Amino acid sequence: MKAAIVTHDHRVSVEDKQLRSLEYGEALLTMECCGVCHTDLHVKNGDFGDKTGVVLGHEGIGIVSELGPGVTALNLGDRVSVAWFYQGCGHCEYCNTGRETLCRSVKNAGYSVDGGMAEQCIVQADYAVKVPDGLASAAASSISCAGVTTYKGLKVSEIRPGEWVAIYGLGGLGNLALQYAKNVFNAKVIAVDINEQQLSLASSLGADLVINSRDQDAQAIIQEKCGGAHAALVTAVAKSAFQSAVFSVRAGAKVVAIGLPPESMALDIPRLVLDGIQVVGSLVGTRTDLAEAFQFAAEGKVAPKVALRPIEAINTIFDEMQAGKIAGRVVIDFKNSARS
Ligand code: NAD
Ligand code: ZN
Ligand code: ZN
Repeated sequence: MKAAIVTHDHRVSVEDKQLRSLEYGEALLTMECCGVCHTDLHVKNGDFGDKTGVVLGHEGIGIVSELGPGVTALNLGDRVSVAWFYQGCGHCEYCNTGRETLCRSVKNAGYSVDGGMAEQCIVQADYAVKVPDGLASAAASSISCAGVTTYKGLKVSEIRPGEWVAIYGLGGLGNLALQYAKNVFNAKVIAVDINEQQLSLASSLGADLVINSRDQDAQAIIQEKCGGAHAALVTAVAKSAFQSAVFSVRAGAKVVAIGLPPESMALDIPRLVLDGIQVVGSLVGTRTDLAEAFQFAAEGKVAPKVALRPIEAINTIFDEMQAGKIAGRVVIDFKNSARS
């Protein structure tokens, strides 16, 4: 089967790969599609360590085609996810207190285990989340990382109906953050990006205030027009966005860090202490968060903007992502491409 494999020179090679046989509790998926997340770009670039040889992909949707021994959670024909949260240990303090993505023995698809950017993928049956009927696979793929991560980030932000949330970065994650914020959390959205294409998508999705921070002072405008946001979500892959977000919010607000630029930020200590600002990281979402995020999309409250492409285009897609040319999500199509 064809798979997108990271090479030592930070490219991706589409190769034929043989899968091992299934072990206890595992299921085999015939993949329908897999979204290309900016995290895949970080992984193949080695931003979090060398990952040569791993099969990328954690926005995968596939159909169960084979069950290993001991599987009770899935049936043949079920349509399920291959998400970044691939498996937790199931018995640690994090797994047992609703914080399973923080499990210290976690396995992540397309990073520590082979992921879903392939014609077939092995999953842990207890950890694959079912896609509701009526939600197309390409849309579901985008929810399985970008959607659940921003839905969870909004929960973490504690934003309430009618309040202002600033979203920094309106790319694959950010446009879904905007839709969950408006259509599920009933908040007002400030969209901040440096790319006009992303900002016009944000306007078309109903952003209440749109700021191009390439030539405008986002934090000053947000303070002036909204009295400071009640929360900020930062999905931008740039330190400057995180720093601006800290000064864009009002006293007592949370800044939720989601983007992963591999660098450090400086925090103004008096700003944190005197204004009671919290800066908190948020990592994907639990299986229940994903089931909820899928359901809101199935109900039409969130509609991912997706473009299907063949796996052979993967290096071009990463070049386009790096250059900021992608609006919404590119999704690798396995269902309609010829299988080998
Ligand atoms: P993307 O490339 O689709 O979007 C990034 C957006 O940030 C683009 O619209 C870009 O124009 C914008 N941007 C860049 N610099 C900016 C700046 N200075 N100010 C405002 N906007 C700016 O990427 P994506 O797939 O949405 O992923 C975003 C980040 O989130 C990546 O670092 C990714 O690894 C990370 N991520 C984190 C989690 C998590 O669980 N925390 C999950 C998925 C992705
Ligand atoms: Zn992702
Ligand atoms: Zn655990």
